[in-house]
Amino acid sequence: MKNEQVILETRDLSVSYGAIQALRHVSMHVEKGEIVALLGANGAGKTTLLQTLSGLITPDDGTIIYRGVEMIGQEAEEVAAKHLIHVPEHRQVFPTLSVLDNLTLGAYHHYRKTGAKAVETEMEKVFSFFPILKERKEQLAGTLSGGQQQMLAIARGVMAKPSLLLLDEPTLGLAPIIAQEVLGLVADLRNEFETTVLLVEQNVVSSLRIADRGYVISHGEIVKSGSASELRNDKEIKEAYLGQSV
Ligand code: ATP
Repeated sequence: MKNEQVILETRDLSVSYGAIQALRHVSMHVEKGEIVALLGANGAGKTTLLQTLSGLITPDDGTIIYRGVEMIGQEAEEVAAKHLIHVPEHRQVFPTLSVLDNLTLGAYHHYRKTGAKAVETEMEKVFSFFPILKERKEQLAGTLSGGQQQMLAIARGVMAKPSLLLLDEPTLGLAPIIAQEVLGLVADLRNEFETTVLLVEQNVVSSLRIADRGYVISHGEIVKSGSASELRNDKEIKEAYLGQSV
């Protein structure tokens, strides 16, 4: 694909865990500035795709081109240093560290290149975007509410100055009203920080409200793709997720 706007593209990506094939010939792309939703049921392969993009899993086959460079074979550490940042599911913050220390760790690569002053500036920007984290900056992350921990996990990702942010089920286990708030923040993030986002969600209706485009994955294969409005109006999707209100 020659489109200059494409920041990430996979072609024919296949992954297996022993005899289980988790991804089959997955071809998809994300353009700069987009929020792209990756939708699908439990076990469809969404997490596997994100883990493959972030260098945690080596695929059997296929290519991953990120900002024009082939990424397969690069370690997760190298991938993160290139600002392809993965916020894993289950809000994995460091529970015994303060909010501030969690955020500082997010800026690790960036700190090594640009120094403390630039990190401080970034921290101020992040704090003005997530004021609750500023209020609680000395608090241990493990004592925050579920929603606040999720905000911290996302904010830590933002501290790494992502060119592409991979968000794995940021609303999992959150009360509906908090889930809405978190998804609203993801939409605002794109506007405020010009962050490109690949969003894995089971909250299909809500994620299609903030996304530009989406892919539906089933049994490791992309079975549908389109603009968010096309997917929202898709008969099969409507039937499958009818009544989902979050
Ligand atoms: P969920 O929403 O439940 O997280 P998912 O769409 O993210 O689901 P994956 O976690 O990527 O799906 O799983 C895809 C398939 O690979 C499933 O069949 C799952 O059981 C299998 N799988 C995932 N991780 C492993 C593993 N470490 N070892 C073996 N099989 C795995």
